Amino acid sequence: MSQANPAGPAASPPIECEMCLKEIPESAAFTPEGSDYVGHFCGIACYEEFLRKRREAAASQE
Ligand SMILES: [Zn+2]
Repeated sequence: MSQANPAGPAASPPIECEMCLKEIPESAAFTPEGSDYVGHFCGIACYEEFLRKRREAAASQE
């Protein structure tokens, strides 16, 4: 008898992509560095979309 433990003994809870809110494992998250905003994204496409929306929001506040 063996016990299968696919999640591992200390699985961290999944995190959400800041853009599409999809649940992603922390190990697979894209985390931009050197930015003034630290977030987690499922991929660079979501990060670029996030930056664009952020830039538009900042531009419309002038
Ligand atoms: Zn995403």
